[in-house]
Amino acid sequence: MVLERPGESLVKRELPDPEPGESQVLLEVSACGVCRTDLHIVDGELTEPKLPLVPGHQMVARVSGGGERFAAGDRVGVPWLGWTDGTCRYCRSGRENLCDRARFTGYQRDGGYAQLAVADERFCFPISSDYPDLQAAPLLCAGLIGFRTLKLAGDAERLGIYGFGGAAHIICQVAVHQGRRVFAFTRAGDDETQRFALELGAEWAGDALGPPPEELDAALIFAPAGELVPAALRAVAKGGAVACGGIHMSDIPQMPYELLWGERMLRSVANLTRADGEEFLALAPRVPVRTEVETFPLGEANEALDRLRSGRIRGSAVLVP
Ligand SMILES: [Zn+2]
Ligand SMILES: [Zn+2]
Repeated sequence: MVLERPGESLVKRELPDPEPGESQVLLEVSACGVCRTDLHIVDGELTEPKLPLVPGHQMVARVSGGGERFAAGDRVGVPWLGWTDGTCRYCRSGRENLCDRARFTGYQRDGGYAQLAVADERFCFPISSDYPDLQAAPLLCAGLIGFRTLKLAGDAERLGIYGFGGAAHIICQVAVHQGRRVFAFTRAGDDETQRFALELGAEWAGDALGPPPEELDAALIFAPAGELVPAALRAVAKGGAVACGGIHMSDIPQMPYELLWGERMLRSVANLTRADGEEFLALAPRVPVRTEVETFPLGEANEALDRLRSGRIRGSAVLVP
């Protein structure tokens, strides 16, 4: 499925088979998760896609040739971070997620909304046999970047999670496993999502813009809504962190400095490092994280994106070629 122009629906196209270059593997895609970032690309909110573009950066695939790291038939996961230069000041200081020249899967390189793909083998992850293809797909972005967001929020005991979709449903399980208390904040009146959060171990679920039941030590924001920033800062205790896990957000409304005062911290989370991926993919089966997926045939990618846009996906959407 191909994005020809931002703001338009994806179109089904027969493309020539991709050819693996140096350090690249040729992949047969088994499943590809749908991420909110894909929506930001399709809707034109992220402005530097290659065009035409095959989106998708939560790809589970089997190696069918190329490279040296994997054997034919090996199962790998391909995440958002597709390539870095390895030489800039960020790469040399363990922060390849901030690489100035990074290339991202399904954005500047064709991704997994396809039957075949190529990827740089150095940025692929082996996938634990604990997870079938469909259940593994959401680990590759919702899981990885959600986990980085959780880490950057510090070791808070009372953790608020704003926006309870793909990332939150995974990170809620990890946080509960770590002994934290989770409070889930959803759209007002979204009883179904609130019930889902409670099933996954949250001890409270309620409206994002309403008052929290008690003070929080940290908050993670996974919904792309800027008005959640002052709401989350208002809910966290002195010294607490608010970490925004998304790549794009609507404007943050003007707010009084008092909300940040008291050594509260506000930060964003950008991309992932390979170390994040290795750490999270080793942790997930030990929790164990169970991903809930709604599957769509590849040709129904537009339907999956529409459902995600309107908040009508329980857990994560996954495309199957
Ligand atoms: Zn770099
Ligand atoms: Zn993503």
